[in-house]
Amino acid sequence: MARLTPPALVMLGSGALATARRLQACYPDARVHGLRGRVEAQACNIVYDELGAHLRELYTSGTPIIALCAAGIVIRCVAPLLANKGAEPPVLAVAEDGSAVVPLLGGLTGVNVMAREIAAALGVPPAITTSGELRFGTCVLNPPEGYALASLAQGKRFVSDLLAGESTRVEGDAHWLDDAQLPRAEHAQRAIRITPRVWNGNTDELVIHPRSVVVALADGEDTVQRVREALAAHGLSPLALAAIVAPATCIGDETLAHAAETLDAPLRFAPVVPGGDDLPARPTPRALLGAALQSNCAIVDAASGLALAIADQPIDAHTVGRARGQLTVIGLGPGSADLMVPAARAALAQATDILGYATYVEMAGPFRADQRVHPTDNREEMQRARHAFELASGGRRVVMVSSGDPGVFAMASAVLEALETSDGRDWADVELAIVPGVSAALATAAQAGAPLGHDFCVLSLSDNLKPWSIIETRIAHAAQADLVMAFYNPVSRARPWQLDKALDIVRTARAPETKVVLGRDIGRPGASLVTTTLGELRSADVDMRTMVIIGSSTTRGFARPSARGTQREWVYTPRWYR
Ligand code: SAH
Repeated sequence: MARLTPPALVMLGSGALATARRLQACYPDARVHGLRGRVEAQACNIVYDELGAHLRELYTSGTPIIALCAAGIVIRCVAPLLANKGAEPPVLAVAEDGSAVVPLLGGLTGVNVMAREIAAALGVPPAITTSGELRFGTCVLNPPEGYALASLAQGKRFVSDLLAGESTRVEGDAHWLDDAQLPRAEHAQRAIRITPRVWNGNTDELVIHPRSVVVALADGEDTVQRVREALAAHGLSPLALAAIVAPATCIGDETLAHAAETLDAPLRFAPVVPGGDDLPARPTPRALLGAALQSNCAIVDAASGLALAIADQPIDAHTVGRARGQLTVIGLGPGSADLMVPAARAALAQATDILGYATYVEMAGPFRADQRVHPTDNREEMQRARHAFELASGGRRVVMVSSGDPGVFAMASAVLEALETSDGRDWADVELAIVPGVSAALATAAQAGAPLGHDFCVLSLSDNLKPWSIIETRIAHAAQADLVMAFYNPVSRARPWQLDKALDIVRTARAPETKVVLGRDIGRPGASLVTTTLGELRSADVDMRTMVIIGSSTTRGFARPSARGTQREWVYTPRWYR
């Protein structure tokens, strides 16, 4: 079963690892989450510090949870969130040795389906407790993708009537119920009705709407009201709406986008053929539907300039015209998954295409089989940015990855430069967003204490894209201004002497005792943090994976004995000057 958000396999101890691996075979996109210190970090995709907070975060973000621990622990952790029951993700407890599978929450989002899948993979019976599910072998209130229940309250009443001995007819195409053990009777008073028509409130019916109606409009004025009126006039339920189609000239119209959100239907666009004088012809809604729909449907002209297409089966919105393309430039943070912001993770989960320097693309994975990755060489930034726009302007959801923050010596500027220098309208229509990340200077500083606690500046020592003379001037001024300095790109094989030159300049204005912090591969395997002084710093201690933070005159360090008997040194810059 395809799910947008892959489940999280949450482990409390290494004892569950073998079971987690078996479940990964069942859900290849699932990530393994391990408790810090209890589960070897290398065995996990994500390391967390506290189970309760972690499970609540997953639950709130709608991530299906497979917790490899006692059911009671899971219940206690998510209990505070259960009072306001909205749409909840599936939550299951699985015994760490794989001997028991207990669906806990998410009856309407397929927890029992997952319980059956997991149980089959582990060769045990699932602990299904939902009466309807046990009796009928399926959850009648959880129709497949492309269908929507008219009323949950009525649905619950209807199922309890069936459990109490009533029988039902099925009207319309409910093929997913073919194998269900429903108490069917041809002339039953009760009916499960599959129809795009609105439910009339008859309590003998369980109405399920196929999302089989597409509305087209030529402009975005009063969209919500016009669509609702058109549906009502034709007796159609708003829940049967599969998509709204507008002309491609409306891409980027925010009012229309909000209207589609309010109507809870994806907004899709149809191509517009040029009219005379190369002006776009004003298309009729009917013509838009003709251009956007792949299969023949009954099309009716509705009042107030709308047209409706009504199909027999659900219409997959992805097949209707095309979406507004998206390009999201994200920062992965320094390396470890727990330092990536949730908005970046969400963008990755929704991406159809992922672009970036090969090392970072790999860091951002694993990806689903339906996602396309386009790793490239580090030096091809402008080409990569243009490629991203080309994909996005074709309607794809593209994510460009950078390490740290995408706006700090990284891809966000290249993407904006590509946009500014393009003249086509297509790229401007792409929904562009930049999601920040934890930059290497911030991650390194946090490890050391708070060396950036007062005024500071960041400088790249790379003279690939700027003259060295500018770098020298900036360092001299920053040193004189007593700013803490964070050096990115301090050295590389092609730039061996620049760091020494930079340090010579700093040393003219700052004492040899000045605190220096070197962070290498922070947040990545083999991370190291070294505290030294300006006098002792040698460029041989630094490579291209190192962040160099040079303290100001007030940056200080002190040591405190740690619990393990070693000294823990802290470096910070006070908030004040004496
Ligand atoms: N956009 C990135 C910076 C890219 S420039 C960010 O915001 O962090 C690349 C430089 O960043 C490297 O040469 C190194 O100086 C620094 N850097 C990146 N990741 C690092 C890490 N995990 N640990 C230490 N320094 C890092």
